[in-house]
Amino acid sequence: MTPTGSAREARTRPVIDLHTHSAVSDGTETPTELVAAAARAGVDVLALTDHDTVAGWAEAAAAARTHGVTLVRGIEISCAWHHSSIHLLGYLTDADDAALARELARARDSRSTRLERMVALMAADGIPLGYDEVLAQVGPGATPGRPHIADALIANGTIRHRDEAFRSWLGDDSPYYVGHYAPDPVRAVELVRAAGGVPVIAHPFTRTRTGALDDALVERMREAGLVGLEAYHRDHGPAEVARAEALAGRLGLLLTGSSDYHGEGKRNRLAENTTKPEVLEAIEAASSGVTEVLRP
Ligand code: AMP
Ligand code: FE
Ligand code: FE
Ligand code: ZN
Repeated sequence: MTPTGSAREARTRPVIDLHTHSAVSDGTETPTELVAAAARAGVDVLALTDHDTVAGWAEAAAAARTHGVTLVRGIEISCAWHHSSIHLLGYLTDADDAALARELARARDSRSTRLERMVALMAADGIPLGYDEVLAQVGPGATPGRPHIADALIANGTIRHRDEAFRSWLGDDSPYYVGHYAPDPVRAVELVRAAGGVPVIAHPFTRTRTGALDDALVERMREAGLVGLEAYHRDHGPAEVARAEALAGRLGLLLTGSSDYHGEGKRNRLAENTTKPEVLEAIEAASSGVTEVLRP
């Protein structure tokens, strides 16, 4: 006889996905839809980590209660380092921490100006797009990003998927690329720690323009309070995973795995990579406790 109860209850090891996006940044689902999708996909513990904002936390918390999902509230901070972008996950930060909130607000403001400049450069080159069309793709209070330019090009029939826009016009090497204000990675680690949160480098060895994340920078981030590396991520092949594991072993860092799900905006599927329960416990223990993991 099969015991009653959901498939989730029947498993002994919970499924933990610690990196996802909602339409409060560049995901395509509302926080409520994202949590519902996670429950359907068998995710027991979900982290919402929208780019440079905590604006989705409250809605995700309500949905997590409804769907019986455990919620880890987080952010993904874009950091600037030698003309390339390094992403820092911050788990369980205090949303009321003034210094971190100020830094995130500054980044979001600068992201808007930057998108307007990118659209102007593209329009001058004959790509059919207006900034108003891009704004129409950014949800209320959401962090604007390059994917919203792609969404505007989908809406006006120029392309079919975000990927096409990134290959043709939006990539880091594109002549239309414009940067935005972002803190340097060491300062971002300090800000997350000062806000009681737990910093983990997102997809550390994703190939970037300059391939800038060298071991020396990770060491400096470690000295500033870095706690982990997101080793298990679709942007990493076996060589990148091995490098993350070796570095974590040497520096005493945790290793996480996550999907980096963006709804229909990217091919990443929920729970395609996961984090071990003991690693989640260590993340929780490293936080100040001001922002708790929300259990249903
Ligand atoms: P931004 O934050 O504005 O610099 O834009 C970077 C974001 O674009 C990343 O967080 C990804 O979610 C997204 N992105 C990067 N490359 C692609 C791609 N090929 N297809 C879809 N989304 C992408
Ligand atoms: Fe994104
Ligand atoms: Fe990222
Ligand atoms: Zn992400």
